[in-house]
Amino acid sequence: MTPLVEYLVSKFLGQEAAQSFRRRRFMRGATEKYKDDAAWARDMITMHMELCEMSQREGYLRQEARELQERAANSAEGLTTSQQSQLEKWLGEIEQLARQYWIREREFYRREVSAPSGPVLRGYLSWRENPRWYMLSKTLTRDCAGRGGCCGRACGCCDKDRMAGRKVRKGHCTVECGCCRRVWGFEMSYEDKTRYKKLYDVHMKENEAYVNRLKMAYIFGK
Ligand SMILES: [Zn+2]
Ligand SMILES: [Zn+2]
Ligand SMILES: [Zn+2]
Repeated sequence: MTPLVEYLVSKFLGQEAAQSFRRRRFMRGATEKYKDDAAWARDMITMHMELCEMSQREGYLRQEARELQERAANSAEGLTTSQQSQLEKWLGEIEQLARQYWIREREFYRREVSAPSGPVLRGYLSWRENPRWYMLSKTLTRDCAGRGGCCGRACGCCDKDRMAGRKVRKGHCTVECGCCRRVWGFEMSYEDKTRYKKLYDVHMKENEAYVNRLKMAYIFGK
């Protein structure tokens, strides 16, 4: 239940003031009282990023497969043997990703609805009322650009429906963004990806200040 003061702030001063009020309450008690909320917020960030990663990978493969098929349709020879085997590999991975995404999305929902009630949950729900929440946070758009993502360029990918026609959690670029990959000009190896992910791991002690900023941006919108 919303505490009376928070309700009054929201009613008379608006949503932004209410978010600021919740954020201050959370920060004051962040160490002990809201320990579970902080863990929940960290899980939300991790799972959201994983969903974005899977959907961006699937979107990238679908586009590559489509382009390959179009090129083959326009050439007299059609697909070569190696192109045919590449296409089959991509289609197999697409199916596997769709299945993984389906499961992960349900796990995400279960974790989302098991949030401890408090300022974090109220802040999160209020912030999610705007479907473009992640684009409205300067911290998150700057983070995307800083990691070499599309927010640092004029393509505007993060604000687009990356996979039209499917319910996909929208968000900023991950290591699997197809547009970023084309800009970088190389295919990341498994080791490259592991190293990149470790750099921004939300569970690492060295990343504590960074993760705290992300938490505020994901939950309260700053
Ligand atoms: Zn990108
Ligand atoms: Zn882009
Ligand atoms: Zn972005």
